[in-house]
Amino acid sequence: MTDYRARSMWLDGMPGELAPRPALPGPTEVDVAVVGAGFTGLWTAYYLKKADPHLRVAVLEREIAGFGASGRNGGWCHTTFPGSREQAAETHGREAVADQQRALHRTVYEVARVVDEEGIDARFHLGGQLDLALTPVQLLRAQKSIEYERSWGFGEEDYVQLGAADMRERIKVAGCLGAVYTPHGACLDPARTVRGLAEVVERLGVPIYERTPVTSLEPHVAVTATGDVRAEVVVRATEAFTPELPGYERCLVPIYSLMIGTEPLPQAFWDDIGWSGREVFGDHRFLIFYAMHTADGRIAIGGRGAPYHYGSRLSEDFEQAPAVEERLRALLGELFPSLGSFTVTHHWGGAVAAARDWTTSVGLDRASGMAWAGAYVGDGVSTTNLAARTLRDLILGEETELTRLPWVNHRSRLWEPEPLRWIGVNAALKAMGSADATEVRTGRPSTRAVYVKRMIGA
Ligand SMILES: Cc1cc2nc3c(=O)[nH]c(=O)nc-3n(C[C@H](O)[C@H](O)[C@H](O)COP(=O)(O)OP(=O)(O)OC[C@H]3O[C@@H](n4cnc5c(N)ncnc54)[C@H](O)[C@@H]3O)c2cc1C
Repeated sequence: MTDYRARSMWLDGMPGELAPRPALPGPTEVDVAVVGAGFTGLWTAYYLKKADPHLRVAVLEREIAGFGASGRNGGWCHTTFPGSREQAAETHGREAVADQQRALHRTVYEVARVVDEEGIDARFHLGGQLDLALTPVQLLRAQKSIEYERSWGFGEEDYVQLGAADMRERIKVAGCLGAVYTPHGACLDPARTVRGLAEVVERLGVPIYERTPVTSLEPHVAVTATGDVRAEVVVRATEAFTPELPGYERCLVPIYSLMIGTEPLPQAFWDDIGWSGREVFGDHRFLIFYAMHTADGRIAIGGRGAPYHYGSRLSEDFEQAPAVEERLRALLGELFPSLGSFTVTHHWGGAVAAARDWTTSVGLDRASGMAWAGAYVGDGVSTTNLAARTLRDLILGEETELTRLPWVNHRSRLWEPEPLRWIGVNAALKAMGSADATEVRTGRPSTRAVYVKRMIGA
């Protein structure tokens, strides 16, 4: 039996059994077949059934609900724009882009509403998001990002700059020169949220067939070893696992993001550093990190830095990397020197997915019945919810403010064949890390990472 608990601190913390639900017993026919029981698939099933209780919806999941990134992530429920605002504005205009950003802001409160109304033990906390400035170069970037948000029409109620003293009031992070704060951000326990959502969806009358791999997707059909699932619409909600499906090998690349979780930390530490608002925080470096103060008094912190694997290969072996674990542990010590020695109880990871133009999309091709949502990179916790409500409207054939948003039916071009893909993605990841090091060494902004990001279309 697969040890699902070992795949993340959050899955390990789940009460009760993680026993798989029954698999698909044989061929069947439904109105909507959802492939993948992560946030995308489950939110989609949820909103469809809420809109039309008579709709026959089934979810097909290769492992168990929350097995993928949804059960392993950093727990940031936040609102990063899913691509380049400038590129989206070229085709849809600036107002549509601002609409999408506002829709993302509202999504955080929508997630809060549903977990509350449905009684999901998500451990949701609306503390906002902080992007710290830990060097003078990062401070400059923070100032620029405020100017940037103002140029898009977002005011102090959306993004505000905090000084070093304001930050000390919130969280005592060593060397912190200031931050950009947005109230539209929250933290949650991802496994409790996604698995709680699965129970809600089941209660609404949606069967979730677990240990049921879909081996290929054909028009109006999800093919499995136990039989075909025929449907008017088949929703592909497989994110980083998508390249394993025949025909989708170059659609997305999986990029590993790894995390560590500390033991519950002593009250004296929390008294010293504050962080009682439980804001999620990162900083303005290129090779990002993301930190969270958990409901049970731990710190969960994650970051990139693991390599991309040839042929978009996925493996449990790639979910831990001693070098990344060490880097994250050292980073925690730098951020919070008063932490002293501490125990890391969990080290885990998973893959996020990126499209060739680093743009998230959601869409439906009525002729083939294929719907999809994905390429969230590291920003899917709340974005999946917006994607799912959009899929609901598309599938039900309703034209709404959501179906008019720029990411709807956006098509990204394919990634290059190997070995170009391997060379390009790893060069980009490496350049971001070395750009950070250069900035620290020289005290000047690095242009290298920006060039590389442009080169790969990110
Ligand atoms: C370590 C890590 C940290 C992250 N941190 C954050 C964060 O803090 N905030 C944030 O917003 N985002 C974060 N993300 C990204 C976020 O978790 C994802 O964008 C989001 O969970 C994607 O949800 P999903 O349902 O589309 O995909 P997944 O959760 O990956 O679900 C896909 C599901 O499909 C199933 N599946 C795959 N192939 C098949 C098949 N052939 N047949 C049947 N089932 C199949 C899988 O088993 C899986 O359960 C992080 C990701 C990782 C890995």
